[in-house]
Amino acid sequence: MDFTNEMKIEFDSKSINESFARTVVASFVAQLDPTIEEINDVKTAVSEAVTNAIIHGYNNQDGKVIISCKIKDREVFIEVKDRGVGIEDIGKAMEPLYTTRPEIERSGMGFSFMEAFMDKLIVESELGKGTTVKMSKKFEKRGD
Ligand code: ATP
Ligand code: MG
Repeated sequence: MDFTNEMKIEFDSKSINESFARTVVASFVAQLDPTIEEINDVKTAVSEAVTNAIIHGYNNQDGKVIISCKIKDREVFIEVKDRGVGIEDIGKAMEPLYTTRPEIERSGMGFSFMEAFMDKLIVESELGKGTTVKMSKKFEKRGD
């Protein structure tokens, strides 16, 4: 039978929670005995998605960020969801160097990092309703 394991957390949209969020996800996926590189890839991707939810989705205002994480055999599925402003043009938002906030020194590389560090990335969003970032990564087989 396939092994599955799931968790879900919800926390306030505050930048102080970014490190909390990536650490929780890293702890959960640690059961797969990942390489340092794999764990760092997941942490970076989660950080980028959570930062986006806080600064873009909620414009640094109050809100809740929800992360659900599922392990299926050696594959990890992560969803980062906000009920914020939503994204008007997802295709454009995902282009490297595209940012709607150059004035606050964003570089427009968040989605590119998520894409580079994870195997799959899907962004779903509706204006006024919010955004869900779905990403997955298959971890190497450990031969020990
Ligand atoms: P960086 O991540 O390099 O600091 P950035 O956040 O602008 O810059 P991306 O993370 O690639 O770059 O996001 C691109 C754009 O997509 C953002 O500028 C923003 O307009 C939009 N966006 C991303 N995530 C969300 C979200 N959760 N809600 C609303 N808009 C978003
Ligand atoms: Mg970003």
